[in-house]
Amino acid sequence: MADILPEEADYIVVGAGSAGCVVAARLSEDPSVRVLLLEAGSRDTNPWIHLPVGYAKTMYHPTLSWNYLTQPEPNLDNRRLIWPRGRVLGGSSSLNGLIYIRGQREDYQQWRQQGCTGWDYEDVLPYFKLSEDNERAGTELRGKGGPLAVSDLRHNDPLVKTFIEAAVQAGIPRNEDFNGATQEGVGSPQTTTRNGLRWSTARAYLKPAMSRPNLTVVSNALTTGITTAAGRATGVTVKRHGATHSVKAVREVILCGGAINSPHLLLLSGIGPAEHLAQHGIPVVADRAQVGRNLQDHLQARMVYKLNQPLGLNGRKNSLMGLAEMGLQYLLTRSGPLTWSAGVANVFARVLPGSASPDVQFHMLPFSSDKPGPDLHRFAGMTVSTCQLRPESRGTITLGSTDPEAHALIHANYLATETDRRAMIDGLRLIRKVMAQPAIAPLVTGEYLPGEAAESDEALLAHIRATSSTIFHPSGTCRMGGDAESVVDPELRLRGLEGLRVADASIMPTVVSGNTNAACIMIGEKCADLVKASAKQRLAA
Ligand SMILES: Cc1cc2nc3c(=O)[nH]c(=O)nc-3n(C[C@H](O)[C@H](O)[C@H](O)COP(=O)(O)OP(=O)(O)OC[C@H]3O[C@@H](n4cnc5c(N)ncnc54)[C@H](O)[C@@H]3O)c2cc1C
Repeated sequence: MADILPEEADYIVVGAGSAGCVVAARLSEDPSVRVLLLEAGSRDTNPWIHLPVGYAKTMYHPTLSWNYLTQPEPNLDNRRLIWPRGRVLGGSSSLNGLIYIRGQREDYQQWRQQGCTGWDYEDVLPYFKLSEDNERAGTELRGKGGPLAVSDLRHNDPLVKTFIEAAVQAGIPRNEDFNGATQEGVGSPQTTTRNGLRWSTARAYLKPAMSRPNLTVVSNALTTGITTAAGRATGVTVKRHGATHSVKAVREVILCGGAINSPHLLLLSGIGPAEHLAQHGIPVVADRAQVGRNLQDHLQARMVYKLNQPLGLNGRKNSLMGLAEMGLQYLLTRSGPLTWSAGVANVFARVLPGSASPDVQFHMLPFSSDKPGPDLHRFAGMTVSTCQLRPESRGTITLGSTDPEAHALIHANYLATETDRRAMIDGLRLIRKVMAQPAIAPLVTGEYLPGEAAESDEALLAHIRATSSTIFHPSGTCRMGGDAESVVDPELRLRGLEGLRVADASIMPTVVSGNTNAACIMIGEKCADLVKASAKQRLAA
């Protein structure tokens, strides 16, 4: 509905990302409530958003991405890492790598053990299924008929098949469905696509809801603060086209700004550690020590291999003929490399002693480059990265300034513990083991990154410190929990203020063991149900 800012709404949803689009679409199913969805970024009209591999063009785009920079990371040679996040309808689901992975059953069991009643695997599974329209027929574990298209990768790449074969030779079981009975193994992931098009939450949830008269979606609307009175959130302030507006929330404000922006907005609004707020002269609305704490992310370290045959994508990407072939294949069959996700094969494996479930994930790509992005090497090459799935290190989001347009300060604090360093080193060693197997070794002329000379733990760690990057899963900064210190309770209500919920990656008590988009969509689905249940209770009271 119209892109005009109203004076009030029953529910104000801040942030049209993976979770926010779901919350707004689901709440507006009830025609008796007015829902306002505010998005800082633009509409999703850029065509690169919709082409699956378009992420290579959009992730560092000057307006479609927030392009955060971490503070110098002490354990990564003081490098500052770039953190792209979507700033457009669909949020990060509009420019992510498309991989659909829910995480492990054990992740949600652990959430439950941390006091998050209602978030055990059996509790969240119905929401995963509700969201999903899986190309494979619906099963006990997979959904059919939901808004989110989930499809098999459309590839027939011999190098990917060879890599999978080599992993099996290395003792890793084949796995046809990482979201099935077990996550462990090697295979190709499913993706959030249909017929070779990206299925962001804007496409899946918002588009079908846009014509509802009770849903207003306003883009280019930066929420700059949450207004409060007498211990209750009463609305938001919004900056749009240079002017500042106030919008009243009759029932609730639901914050879906993502793991960096949600805590940032809380801090700007006086909700956070009192001492930190005082440093910036912000009056304290609620002294919540944990806002912006508990930041977790998956760090990836890459290995690049040179090949002795023109396999993979490098050659095709670097020749006009190859590009034309890929373009034609896409146009005629909606398949081929232009539909690939940011990992055409994955491995979930255990490298740490005593791990009961996979603790590392590999992303295999049949191409190579010096850094993630579209500039591929001139030689034939392939990449395998490893990331530790359950990092122990914790970072922070804090204020650098009270200007709502200035970015928050990100201290990711990667590799702060010995376990985290061990998991990364041993992940690299397992990649080497796979690449030494008879199925693939004859194709490899050498290890380009880090190079065979990097043999010792010290040398591998030096490679990780010098080259690793985010795999884009920041989470945990408005931690949900059953304890009084947690930022939100298991119904996602902010502790210490009425009328305010948070629903996005920030509420994860611990980051899920895998890519995070599916979990954020599930969080959006569950949040909408919780809000609807509260409304019913209010009516009944
Ligand atoms: C480059 C990249 C690749 C990734 N690849 C994958 C992958 O392959 N598979 C996977 O599962 N996950 C992947 N992820 C991670 C996944 O997409 C995110 O974890 C998930 O989308 C986060 O959802 P969210 O709802 O927490 O936040 P987001 O989807 O980031 O949404 C937050 C929204 O809020 C808006 N917003 C923020 N602040 C304000 C404000 N003050 N006012 C108004 N609007 C605001 C933002 O612009 C944004 O649209 C990737 C992420 C990135 C960035």
